[in-house]
Amino acid sequence: MLKDQDRIFTNLYGMHDRTLKGAQARGHWDGTAGIIQNGRDWIIQQMKDSGLRGRGGAGFPTGLKWSFMPKESDGRPAYLVVNADESEPGTCKDREIMRHDPHTLIEGCLIASFAMQAHACYIYIRGEYIREREALQAAIDEAYDAGLLGKNAAGSDWDFDLYLHHGAGAYICGEETALLESLEGKKGMPRMKPPFPAGAGLYGCPTTVNNVESIAVVPTILRRGPDWFSSFGRPNNAGTKLFGISGHVNNPCVVEEAMSISFEELIDKHCGGIRGGWDNLKAVIPGGSSVPCVTGANMRDAVMDFDALKDKGSSLGTAAVIVMDNSTDIIKAIWRLSKFYKHESCGQCTPCREGTGWMMRVMDRLVKGEAEIEEIDMLLSVTKQVEGHTICALGDASAWPIQGLIKNFREEIEDRIKAKRTGRMGAMAAE
Ligand code: SF4
Repeated sequence: MLKDQDRIFTNLYGMHDRTLKGAQARGHWDGTAGIIQNGRDWIIQQMKDSGLRGRGGAGFPTGLKWSFMPKESDGRPAYLVVNADESEPGTCKDREIMRHDPHTLIEGCLIASFAMQAHACYIYIRGEYIREREALQAAIDEAYDAGLLGKNAAGSDWDFDLYLHHGAGAYICGEETALLESLEGKKGMPRMKPPFPAGAGLYGCPTTVNNVESIAVVPTILRRGPDWFSSFGRPNNAGTKLFGISGHVNNPCVVEEAMSISFEELIDKHCGGIRGGWDNLKAVIPGGSSVPCVTGANMRDAVMDFDALKDKGSSLGTAAVIVMDNSTDIIKAIWRLSKFYKHESCGQCTPCREGTGWMMRVMDRLVKGEAEIEEIDMLLSVTKQVEGHTICALGDASAWPIQGLIKNFREEIEDRIKAKRTGRMGAMAAE
């Protein structure tokens, strides 16, 4: 289990003082100017050496992403944009940072922006996060008052402004280019890539979009060193990570743990075990609603990191672990996700706009058993026609949960169709 002294987030549960004074007492904002004075190349190299991979779901190496920003400005300003839109069902980690440990993020914004030569950073926060916005804005105001933001921020010789922008509650605005569109005051619709944001992002200027957690861990990594950070987790999966465990565990929670912790340890040590015991575990969605589910039996020996969960046919995603026990109607659970993605599709590309609705309607019938057995393969084939054929990853996100369901629970779907025909109520869905 991760030791307390190795936790980056020291006030995740809001038990301590979340003001600037409290944050400083816990070691935040310590020597920030000194870190910045080491220069941008040093910072980027340290981030690369730490092995940090983006915490927003895709797991792209953070230091490498930063290095894509232009070395010399061509006259355009550069921007850091922090994605605080956290809207993926099951994911609730960044909200704990923003409401209880906001100074980790604010200090990270200053350092990361300097590393990318950005004098301005925008945090785009999810529309539903009203208390979080208030807490974060209060912390930003405090930081300005203390001279940690603004001209010569924190005595670093770097002028830096931080803006908090409140979204209106659309899932698609968590997609980085839709987020940029929304920030510019337009409809939140994803852009085609290329150009990538590092070349032409916010207002057509070089921009890096990073997740809240990715930025909030930066100051501690630079203070304690890349070797310390990379000492946690398996190679290529370094660091500590916030896991958010929900569903049928005895104590759902958000917890910071070492990467590559075993699934069993995570659940037993922090969540009080599976409701009804391990034999009652039916399925797990290990990384937020868009990743394929894994059967309980297959999850028993899982290691919680990017590479291991990929080998299990799923993904670490945002490390939002959704646990389902045997009482779950898994077909209905996945149908609910289909409904969500259909609702959140921006409608801009045909396979997603039409496909999400089509898939949801077939799922609707599968839940009731009112389908032909052959339709299962037809549905699978439609998911393949959506996957990889859309502008943004929402198309994939709508396809993968269904693919996971068919791969792992085909028998259950077939059984329900047969039960409907014969009137065998035991296998039917609950209304
Ligand atoms: Fe919009 Fe869906 Fe296309 Fe993404 S994949 S751009 S959400 S229609």
